[in-house]
Amino acid sequence: MIPGMTSGNPPGPHGTAAAAGVDLTGRTALVTGAGSGIGRACATALAAAGARVHVVDMAAAAANTVAEAIGGRAHVVDLARAETVGELPADVDILVNNAGLQHVAPLTEFPPDRFALMQRVMVHAPFLLIRRTLPHMRAHGWGRIVNVSSAHGLRASAFKAGYVTAKHALEGLSKVAAVEGAPYGVTSNCVNPGYVRTPLVERQIAAQAAAHGIDAGQVVSDVLLSRSAVKRLIEPEEVAAAVLWLCGPHTGYVTGASIPLDGGWTAA
Ligand code: NAD
Repeated sequence: MIPGMTSGNPPGPHGTAAAAGVDLTGRTALVTGAGSGIGRACATALAAAGARVHVVDMAAAAANTVAEAIGGRAHVVDLARAETVGELPADVDILVNNAGLQHVAPLTEFPPDRFALMQRVMVHAPFLLIRRTLPHMRAHGWGRIVNVSSAHGLRASAFKAGYVTAKHALEGLSKVAAVEGAPYGVTSNCVNPGYVRTPLVERQIAAQAAAHGIDAGQVVSDVLLSRSAVKRLIEPEEVAAAVLWLCGPHTGYVTGASIPLDGGWTAA
């Protein structure tokens, strides 16, 4: 048992692990950006399935709260600083590269330092973490790398140069990890949500309103959901369910894939 961590099993005779059909007892997971939104939902779902979970986030209070709630271990690090990645555990079976940030601005006004920060957090840190954890996965003949990409890993939108660039790069990284991991029982996949009901999107609604010169309600109906056939935001728990499925017993042949969770956006 890793100090400071419990098995993450929920109380009760069977917990939700049996209900989800995924038993991760004995597995260790590391989830970045696990203090909020999708990452928190993933950490919670993985812990409920029996995994020990490393909760990684730069927001100390959020990381500690989530770790305490799920019986995991908090790591307060800024993933933009490459040297901090070396402080994180390497002996993990499941890596969820989720931490991310958004900045909305026309390309000609996009701040270069913001662009660079987004690549560090959403491309360079996942690269370093895969590089760091893949040897353990390979040695044990099993591993699951799940990269939280986006519909914007597959499509572009105006005013999102930093984000679209980073997510497309993450797609490529995920595929290389899939090819290199396959001989050792390690899969690597992306999940590609549309707009998820999280603080990141709540902040974005205000930013998009300013960029497009429209009000917040119009941003949701005319911008965020304009390309989605399903006219609602997706919930973080729905994304976590797909991540959990990728860590389950029936997905050894699913690798190098990008799974749209986008209400039909990229189908249209
Ligand atoms: P969120 O803002 O709710 O959570 C992101 C978390 O990442 C925060 O806790 C934040 O502290 C952490 N984080 C950010 N920068 C960090 C850094 N440098 N070091 C350590 N931690 C850092 O966002 P979310 O909506 O849950 O997004 C999570 C992931 O899902 C992101 O990669 C995002 O691009 C992706 N995504 C989100 C949506 C959406 O609509 N919300 C859609 C598609 C993809």
